Amino acid sequence: MDLRKIGKFIAQKRQENNYTQESLAEALDVSNRSVSKWERGICLPDSGHMAELCKLLKISINDLFNGEKVDMKDAEKKAEQLLIEMAKRQEIANKRTFVHTNIAAVGAMLLYFAVVGITARCMHKEDFWPILILVLATLVLFITLYFAFRIEVDLGHYTCKHCKYEFTPTYGQAARAIHMGTTRYLKCPKCHKRSWSKKHF
Ligand SMILES: [Zn+2]
Repeated sequence: MDLRKIGKFIAQKRQENNYTQESLAEALDVSNRSVSKWERGICLPDSGHMAELCKLLKISINDLFNGEKVDMKDAEKKAEQLLIEMAKRQEIANKRTFVHTNIAAVGAMLLYFAVVGITARCMHKEDFWPILILVLATLVLFITLYFAFRIEVDLGHYTCKHCKYEFTPTYGQAARAIHMGTTRYLKCPKCHKRSWSKKHF
């Protein structure tokens, strides 16, 4: 998917259909800046506006993603290529989110220990504030780890070693399973055997 090519195509079709950036933005109920961003290839129109945009520009969704009019005889093949490419993009995005989530979790833990360490050194018996700080820090740590855990489980899926079945564990199953890196010891919902299942995105 070539965002710059798509952007140029949107601009070209907009002009052919006698829209200015302003009038097209108005027709779609988006800001002028959004249209400008699409045309400069900074981002794609969001999914909620795609169908309407294509209708206004008299193109198909397939044309839009390819950044050109797709020949009818190539349409199916091009659509399939796009689906594969989008799946790949999704995988990459998921992996990136996974890494960022882990960094956030480790960061939250390091920050927590730093706060605990500093607070413990400054603590006097009669002070109330260190306890307050510790309680708050603990709360923030648990909330961060809880959400990091949920994101981690939601991203990707596992493959059973015995029957090759692909599945996503529930939060409870994931929490109870031992794991090493991106591999978890999970019970397969299909064949009910346990195995070290590797995470895929
Ligand atoms: Zn299985």
